[in-house]
Amino acid sequence: MNYRQILTEALMQRDGNRCWLCGKPFAVQDAVHFDHAVAKSNGGPDTFANLQLVHAFCNISAGRKPHQKGYRVLKAGIFVSSDDMRLRIRETLVQTGGDKGKTAALLGISLRTLYRRLE
Ligand SMILES: [Zn+2]
Repeated sequence: MNYRQILTEALMQRDGNRCWLCGKPFAVQDAVHFDHAVAKSNGGPDTFANLQLVHAFCNISAGRKPHQKGYRVLKAGIFVSSDDMRLRIRETLVQTGGDKGKTAALLGISLRTLYRRLE
């Protein structure tokens, strides 16, 4: 395995094998792009924490626009701002009685994202 493959595997494990833009799982034949959570144009670094995987076709589609303005995908096709996401996480945590795993699953986000948003 080369470095790119190792990094891809690690990101897939971290984020549950899902595309950050559409929220759908990657199929074996899908072309995968690296994407920056905080855009490079906004000073986002090339670190593991700031990288996420997206379908190549999502990365170049119209769906990319809201993401570039600091919006994130909640579930397939639904874009929310970081503040909205934080609010939804808090609301869902109350609904699940503080179960972080269940909350992340319900929102279609990784546990890591949940923790990052609660910081
Ligand atoms: Zn996608």
